Amino acid sequence: MEISVVQGDITKIAVDVIVNAANTSLMGGSGVDGAIHKAGGPEILEECRKIRARQGGCKTGEVVITTGGKLPCKYVIHTVGPVWLESKADELEKVLTNCYQKSMELALEKNATSIAFPNISTGIYKFPKELAAEIAISTVRKFAEMHEVIFVCYDSENFNLYKQKLS
Ligand code: ADP
Repeated sequence: MEISVVQGDITKIAVDVIVNAANTSLMGGSGVDGAIHKAGGPEILEECRKIRARQGGCKTGEVVITTGGKLPCKYVIHTVGPVWLESKADELEKVLTNCYQKSMELALEKNATSIAFPNISTGIYKFPKELAAEIAISTVRKFAEMHEVIFVCYDSENFNLYKQKLS
């Protein structure tokens, strides 16, 4: 498996799957979620609406999949990361692990060979960035069948953390 890190906008990355840090409503939001829906067009939101009608959104630590709409990827996997709360650290680490793990499992089910991740939960949801990076890297490394994993960092702090941990 080739693991790399780039700094930039995940909507521009041409891979089989990009992962969205969505919220439980699946109806879009700010941050990376807003960027993906804006660049991907209404098709993605329409599919999210159907999923919502069928199963009532997406639980924290779970994943759902849509097409990529107008994005240069085939699929978007929407996962809902945990909102950080120090007193629940152990439990929330497991939830964030699930986000990465279930995204990898679903991507492989769809025969994807490349996947790009944003830094799930480290924006508005305030998960500590270093701990999140350790969880992300160690979890994806367990999936040797995936050929390429790209961590797309938007901010310099995350970018530097991943560069350091992957070197
Ligand atoms: P969460 O609610 O899971 O914390 P956010 O969207 O607030 O989600 O933040 C998740 C991460 O995505 C943050 O590190 C944020 O800087 C980053 N981010 C925001 N916009 C983009 C984008 N266009 N491409 C990649 N990452 C982005």
